[in-house]
Amino acid sequence: MLMSAQKEKFFKFCPDCGSSNWKLTDIPALIAYRELYVRCVDCGFQAKEFPEGTAEFIEGFRRQKNKASDLR
Ligand SMILES: [Zn+2]
Repeated sequence: MLMSAQKEKFFKFCPDCGSSNWKLTDIPALIAYRELYVRCVDCGFQAKEFPEGTAEFIEGFRRQKNKASDLR
C-alpha cells in the first residue's frame, strides 16, 4: 500500500495583512440574505472568502507585506 505524499495543511488567511486570525461574521444589513463573511480579527478586512495557503506560503506573504510597508 502506498502512502500518499505528505499532505500539506491549508489555512485561510487575510489577503490584506496576512493574518490567519479570522472569524465568520454576518453583516446586520444583509442578515435577510444570511450571508456570512470572513472577517480578519487583526485588520477588520472582510470578504466572502479568504484565500488559502500553507503555513509556509502565508509566512512568505506576511514577510512581503512587511517589506512593502517598510518602503513607504
Ligand atoms: Zn487582516
